Amino acid sequence: MRVLKFGGSSLADAAAITHVVRLARKHSEPRESVLVCSACAGVTNRLAQIIDLMRDDQGIRALAGVWALRKRHRAILFSLELGAEQARVWNELEDLGAGLRESIAGTAARDADGAWADSVLSYGERASARLVAGALRNLAVRAEAVDATRFLITDANFQNAAPLREETRHRGREILLPLVERGVIPVVTGFIGATMDGVTTTLGRNSSDFSAAIVGDVLDADEVWLWTDVDGVFDRDPRGGAELRGPDSPDEEFTLLEELTYDEALHLANCGAKALHPRTIEPLREKNTILRIRNTFRPEHPGTRVGGRDNAQPAPTSSTPLAEESAAQ
Ligand code: ADP
Ligand code: ASP
Ligand code: MG
Repeated sequence: MRVLKFGGSSLADAAAITHVVRLARKHSEPRESVLVCSACAGVTNRLAQIIDLMRDDQGIRALAGVWALRKRHRAILFSLELGAEQARVWNELEDLGAGLRESIAGTAARDADGAWADSVLSYGERASARLVAGALRNLAVRAEAVDATRFLITDANFQNAAPLREETRHRGREILLPLVERGVIPVVTGFIGATMDGVTTTLGRNSSDFSAAIVGDVLDADEVWLWTDVDGVFDRDPRGGAELRGPDSPDEEFTLLEELTYDEALHLANCGAKALHPRTIEPLREKNTILRIRNTFRPEHPGTRVGGRDNAQPAPTSSTPLAEESAAQ
């Protein structure tokens, strides 16, 4: 089983999503793959601003922000040209948007608490999972969006919730395995979960990597791949300017770290290597699950491999095209 996670930087617009679903199809084995998606780039930041506006008693500006997000998702959907899938995804997005607007319009600044904020923050991943699932179906790949609130059970520490492992495993297998066995790729929302009582939570900013590792743990996956916008984990932020190259050696190249132990990866993540959320490591190391960090926009590059050093394998570059298998069903 392989979990493929796509970050917001890989889902910024329709062109990126079109590229992502082709990549996902190429690297998915029938009945062996699950996707995890972040919100489209910038959407969670925008939702966080909307929450601040609400708390600042600026409800009208908050609602305007929600309308702007609706417009952005609608533009992505229409540019995707999903044919027969378009109406279904549009209805799904409209339902999500209506819920969000009700929640903004019906909440007073003093009631904008942590639980309310997480329900607002969850909108981005719920929307992107539906766009990606629709785009996969449009390629004749069977796929369904799955809200992680249905199985990723956490404590009630809103904005930084911790998963309850046993309950999550039990519910996750109950929900995901029947889909996988039917040849349907679950497209799971990153970043979000729910309490035992069904109240939406989030796992902390940038935590969709962690969600992917949790899904990997639930399904006893062999590998978890984080597709992002750089070639892997480097010794410093590869998007940094000259100042990050150091005063003594301004021309020094950034070094891609091709193989890392779990401890090394954790250390780098804790030191700010944003391509990898630090909590990702914990669910993987126990089962020696291989983690790969790869570049969505340079998929020919093998990326960084974390763990699994004993039976090191290069990153696979192709596999059975799912479209053919789906078309035969
Ligand atoms: P995603 O949207 O895929 O989750 P993120 O923005 O969370 O992507 O993480 C990828 C970004 O992490 C890269 O664009 C890069 O600028 C930044 N980054 C910071 N430090 C490092 C590092 N040491 N190695 C790789 N990337 C890093
Ligand atoms: N969308 C969430 C965030 O921006 C989670 C993630 O991208 O990993 O923090
Ligand atoms: Mg990230």
